[in-house]
Amino acid sequence: MSQERSYSFEFFPAKTEAGHEKLLSTARELAAYNPEFFSCTYGAGGSTRDRTLNTVLQLDGEVGVPTAPHLSCVGDSKAELRELLTLYKNAGIKRIVALRGDLPSGMGLASGELRYANELVSFIREETGEHFHIEVAAYPEMHPQARNFESDIANFVRKAKAGASSAITQYFFNVDSYFYFVERVRKMGVEIPVVPGIMPITNYSKLARFSDACGAEIPRWVRKQLEAYGDDSDSIRAFGEQVVSEMCERLLAGGAPGLHFYTMNLAAPSLAIWNNLKLPR
Ligand code: FAD
Repeated sequence: MSQERSYSFEFFPAKTEAGHEKLLSTARELAAYNPEFFSCTYGAGGSTRDRTLNTVLQLDGEVGVPTAPHLSCVGDSKAELRELLTLYKNAGIKRIVALRGDLPSGMGLASGELRYANELVSFIREETGEHFHIEVAAYPEMHPQARNFESDIANFVRKAKAGASSAITQYFFNVDSYFYFVERVRKMGVEIPVVPGIMPITNYSKLARFSDACGAEIPRWVRKQLEAYGDDSDSIRAFGEQVVSEMCERLLAGGAPGLHFYTMNLAAPSLAIWNNLKLPR
């Protein structure tokens, strides 16, 4: 059963040469586990345009794992998006993660011609037909800017109807929120796979900051224990590994169609979970 599931790893483009070398070495280590794909994030507004492009082409070509660029529509014009799509298509890239994106603070209001991810999905389909497998984002705990849960579900349905092939969730630590979300979208007639996004826990203060920004809730019993470990990073890692591994076990046992690891460009935290779960290699 597990062979049919999709396991994938996400990276962000490095800012320095040393960071890029580290990313490549992480990617080579993870490639040995035969993931379905890698993905590489994109700075909304084009801030990582060249770095994302180069990283994707290198991971796909040299490291040899099919790699999906993330593409966001806020801050990019249709012409810029079209150019990137053409570059990726000509390079043999077959999968894209299509997002609205969040402009970095200080970049002003969104200047792109496409305002929401469903418009980007439609644009990609109009421009490239069925060439790309299109991934979209899903939010089991609701996107932080959504008016309410219902409107966020309606937005997800719009993305699926616009032509998304599958979805990756924002990370979460509450398994029920994932199953509830999937049940809700199935009732709306959406059948695309929704793969849980998994964030290994390695550093409490960073995790707390990210989680505040993206609307992921750290359950009190997890937060309190992480806080109590203070600077003891070995204990944070060990506890985090146990919590996230158990969560993944429950997700897979409940029928999740795979796992997408937010690696933060590190191999060990994702592999510890992978090995605990005895996932196929
Ligand atoms: P959308 O699906 O467009 O939704 C954004 C918000 O708008 C939601 O609250 C939705 O309910 C609301 N909405 C949608 N349509 C309408 C409408 N017509 N009227 C009113 N409200 C509406 N960010 C990056 O910048 N780069 C990345 O590489 C990146 N990778 C990501 C990968 C994954 C797997 C995930 C889960 C997130 C990623 N993000 C990335 C973050 C993402 O860009 C942000 O969460 C962003 O705020 C929303 O993007 P979206 O594609 O989900 O937007």
